[in-house]
Amino acid sequence: MTLPSPPTTRQLGKSGIEISSIAWGMWRFAGLELSAARAAIDAAFDAGITLFDTADIYGFGEQGFGKAEELLGRVFADAPDLRDRMVLATKGGITPPTPYNSSAEYLTQAIDDSLQRLGTDRIDLWQIHRPDILTHPQEIARAVEAAHKAGKIRAFGVSNFTQAQIATLAQYCPVPIVSTQPELSPLRIDTIENGELDQAMAMDLAVLAWSPLGGGRIGDPSNAREQNVAGALSGVAASHGVSRTAAAYSWIMAHPARPIPIVGSQNPARIAEAADAFKITWTRADWYSVLVAARGVPLP
Ligand code: NAP
Repeated sequence: MTLPSPPTTRQLGKSGIEISSIAWGMWRFAGLELSAARAAIDAAFDAGITLFDTADIYGFGEQGFGKAEELLGRVFADAPDLRDRMVLATKGGITPPTPYNSSAEYLTQAIDDSLQRLGTDRIDLWQIHRPDILTHPQEIARAVEAAHKAGKIRAFGVSNFTQAQIATLAQYCPVPIVSTQPELSPLRIDTIENGELDQAMAMDLAVLAWSPLGGGRIGDPSNAREQNVAGALSGVAASHGVSRTAAAYSWIMAHPARPIPIVGSQNPARIAEAADAFKITWTRADWYSVLVAARGVPLP
């Protein structure tokens, strides 16, 4: 018997917003030419993707803080219909070299700055990128509620938060937390085993899985563990006539929390492969064989 297949679209937690079950991300987007940026976005739409994830900090380093949002803003200026076709997610709260700031004053300004760079009047999903240990959740809640009331953000999520941080913020925040964004891939299985995905199911959080290919290592494995995981994925991929990367996305989506892989490739042909993830069905034995390869030790 095979595991149930994920739907191609679903709800973003309790937000009432419909999204694709696969997202596309812009961590590696800043610095592209406008035409390449547009080609990547078109490839994502063609693959059935409607959820697009960026962050104010993307571009920091080579291009500069804000440069990924700015580039997306230029794409929107060039083709204004694209904005309304996507569910636009961005993040704030990291401010090098501080490194984290979730004070109400900072978050309020960060949201305004993202809106300005993106050239839009609303962010569909606004996420705190990393927890700021030094801000009381009551203060975060105040900033989020004000931005939500003002119509600047439609829904609110977190990223890289612990379970306790999510539960505590949820106690204080009148705007529901609808999503969490942890690192999750066949090479990074912590959330499967530490209760984070179970909490997400309990709270109806959409789980956005960052670096679903382990930053590309599933395509290009470099040690024995990575090769074992890649091998387990390749066997299933070959039997369905799809790529190993499509099998990796599909493996993530097969979990009952229905995590949403955020495709990180900026290459249109590779982005197109994401749609193949829906062609795969998993037996329990195949799914667990990937997990065992990732653990490196047998299951009890
Ligand atoms: P990923 O899919 O794990 O890695 C993408 C990288 O893998 C790209 O450099 C891509 O190169 C390469 N790649 C893809 N297919 C490959 C193949 N078959 N062989 C070898 N290399 C391959 O995702 P990611 O970019 O690390 O992260 C995805 C998204 O997650 C980001 O865009 C961002 O939205 C989000 N994210 C969030 C956080 C957070 O803290 N919340 C942190 C990191 C990322 P090409 O572009 O050349 O295909």
